[in-house]
Amino acid sequence: MDNCIFCKIVNGDIPAAKVYEDEHVLAFLDISQVTKGHTLVIPKDHHKNLYELPEDVAEKVFSVVPKIANSIKNAYEPIGLNLLNNNEEPAGQSVFHYHVHILPRYGKGDGFG
Ligand code: 5GP
Ligand code: ZN
Repeated sequence: MDNCIFCKIVNGDIPAAKVYEDEHVLAFLDISQVTKGHTLVIPKDHHKNLYELPEDVAEKVFSVVPKIANSIKNAYEPIGLNLLNNNEEPAGQSVFHYHVHILPRYGKGDGFG
C-alpha cells in the first residue's frame, strides 16, 4: 500500500533490523526501542488492524510469535515479556498496518508500564 511505512519496510524501500522473516511474516526491531529488543511482528500483506485481519493471516503471524519471543529471550535475556497490539488511534495505534509489539521486560524502570 502506498505511503505505508511498514509496507515500505517489507518492500525494502526503508531499512529495518530484521529479526525474523518468512514468506508471510516479518519481524524487525522497533525504532523506538521502548525496552531493549522491542520488536514488531507484522504480516507482509497490508491489513489496517485487528478488525481487518483475515483469520489465515492471524494464524500465520501468531504461529511464529513464540519462536521470535524465544530468540529475543536468548539474545537479550529479559526477565519477562509483554505482547501488545494497539487498534485505532484512541488505543495508541500510530502505524495503520497490523503489528504486534514484543516488549522484553527487565524490571522496574525498564521504560514500559
Ligand atoms: P503503534 O503505535 O502503531 O502501536 O506502533 C507503531 C510502532 O512503529 C511505534 O512503536 C514506532 O516506534 C514504530 N515505528 C514507526 N516508524 C518506524 C520505522 O520507520 N521503523 C521502525 N523499525 N519502527 C517504526
Ligand atoms: Zn502496509
